[in-house]
Amino acid sequence: MQDGSTGVDLAQVVMSAAVGLAVTDLRGRLLRLNDAFAELLHRSVDDLQGRATAEVLSSPEGAHDVDGTVEQLLQGIPTVTGDVLVHRRDGSVLRGQTLSSLATTGAGTSVVLLQLLDAGTRGRRRPVGDHDALTHLRSRSAVLADLTTRLPARSGLVGVLTCDLDRFRVVNESLGHRVGDEVLVGVARRLLAGVRCGDVVGRLGDDEFVVVLGGLTDVAEAVDVAHRLTRSLAAPLEIEGTDGPREIRCAVSTGLVVVDLGAPPCPKAGPGVPALDAAALLRDANTALDAAKAAGGGCCRVFTGAMREEVIRRLTVENDLRRALERGELRVHYQPVVRLADHRRTGFEALVRWQHPDRGLLLPAEFLDVAEDCGLVTAIDAVVLEEALDFLVRHPGDRVAVNTSARRLDGTFATAVARGLRRRGLAPERLAVELLETSLVSGDATTDGELADLARLGVAVLLDDFGTGYSALSYLRRLPVSGLKLDRSFVSDLPDDVTSDRIAAAVVGLADSFGLSSICEGVETAAQAAHLAAQGWESAQGFHFGVPAPEESWFPRVGAPVPTVQVSA
Ligand code: C2E
Ligand code: CA
Ligand code: CA
Repeated sequence: MQDGSTGVDLAQVVMSAAVGLAVTDLRGRLLRLNDAFAELLHRSVDDLQGRATAEVLSSPEGAHDVDGTVEQLLQGIPTVTGDVLVHRRDGSVLRGQTLSSLATTGAGTSVVLLQLLDAGTRGRRRPVGDHDALTHLRSRSAVLADLTTRLPARSGLVGVLTCDLDRFRVVNESLGHRVGDEVLVGVARRLLAGVRCGDVVGRLGDDEFVVVLGGLTDVAEAVDVAHRLTRSLAAPLEIEGTDGPREIRCAVSTGLVVVDLGAPPCPKAGPGVPALDAAALLRDANTALDAAKAAGGGCCRVFTGAMREEVIRRLTVENDLRRALERGELRVHYQPVVRLADHRRTGFEALVRWQHPDRGLLLPAEFLDVAEDCGLVTAIDAVVLEEALDFLVRHPGDRVAVNTSARRLDGTFATAVARGLRRRGLAPERLAVELLETSLVSGDATTDGELADLARLGVAVLLDDFGTGYSALSYLRRLPVSGLKLDRSFVSDLPDDVTSDRIAAAVVGLADSFGLSSICEGVETAAQAAHLAAQGWESAQGFHFGVPAPEESWFPRVGAPVPTVQVSA
């Protein structure tokens, strides 16, 4: 085709271009190709002409997905992109990308114009920002753009898989950023080798990668890819270091979401709201990835509706909690602690409650996990501590124990406690701090310092939920702990259960031999109280002695009606 005004023969220009171009029929047979296309494959034009694209663009890991590409083109998607890995006959490997679009011949037949790019020659063929400079994989925005072009198709399954290396920070910090970079490049190579042809691999940032899986037959196929990648990445990578090669193991966690583009849009989406968008898919894959990490890493999780609900719950609780702290919606209930010898009250444990404007009075189980994760727990603990100290001022004969998250032991806690006591003129012995056993076993220097400061101050430290932690008991010798609180799971089956009986007896023996006070939790019956008293336990808490209740329940104001105590545990 010659343009009369410029004298340019378009066909000739295309054939001589330095860009790999080919024309195939709708079954993928190569009808015409230019020299650049053949050169990329280290073959001749004559050798390739007439062959099937799936055979030419293939490796032991898979082949260019002709049917999937053509199907998407026929559905009206203007260009379909994919990654291909080609094992050339001379043993070299081409990491390439394909860009396919529909065209019509002079005779009116539909053909595919196939562009082949070498992903190794970065920066030349795409605008800057499309590729990650280190791994040459596509950038986050390029992957999102690719995904966006796929979504309008009204049939087929699309999968998005996000991957995150477990403990990559340790590699970077201990072996240096150069080794870290090599690990990332090695991971990128393995991902490319492990995906099917036509899948798109990108780097989202840091040690996060993404794979877009097209043309899936079912969810199981996507899960297979995820497992294959997880396995291949778990094998050690050989990295060249300054003192020779070294093997580095970097397990990976993956999160997968698969959507059926043919499924009717979610009714909740409403008119005008897109049912699916690329960013939402990525977010769902990341939610599944978080679940994989929470399960210990090195595994894959598939996104479910329940995960989305949990994310929404957490976000709602976090937002509401911030407001609750500003508006003073937190309350403190007090549960009595009694001496088992005579059932006389010796003090209280302060337990937080949330007077939610819509949901009523909430127990810690409804919000404390979120508060721990987002860090708000330290603000909650601070409110409860202040409230408990004010309580001690109002009730001079009493003692209070407050629960404290390990997060609060950041080097400022003991000082804050000392200041609170001093300001109110309170004796430190009237306050105790309860810490979960699990928060102490790490042997962290800041935590140890806080405990030593509390001990010097004269504030007792009690180990809460004792028996449920890892119990590397050596810390009992190292740390200035004052008492053990037996977890209520060991009390609930007493007095009949033999194992519980032995554990309770062993723990009280441990407390005695270390000179620690012993408190058992969750005592609900007179039989349990009698059994534990006989074993030698000093104090107890539980519904049998009193449920957690507001201050007025224990100290009715003169003239005011005594409030009815509601069970709040
Ligand atoms: P915990 O420290 O082990 O507190 C004892 C829990 O057992 C309380 O649940 C209490 O209501 C419940 N309980 C007491 N006696 C009985 C009984 O006889 N039977 C049964 N079945 N349960 C009993 P609650 O108030 O729901 O608190 C749950 C957990 O939340 C606490 O367990 C504690 O770990 C945490 N927590 C509570 N308040 C705070 C706080 O202010 N700060 C922090 N960081 N954690 C808190
Ligand atoms: Ca406690
Ligand atoms: Ca406890």
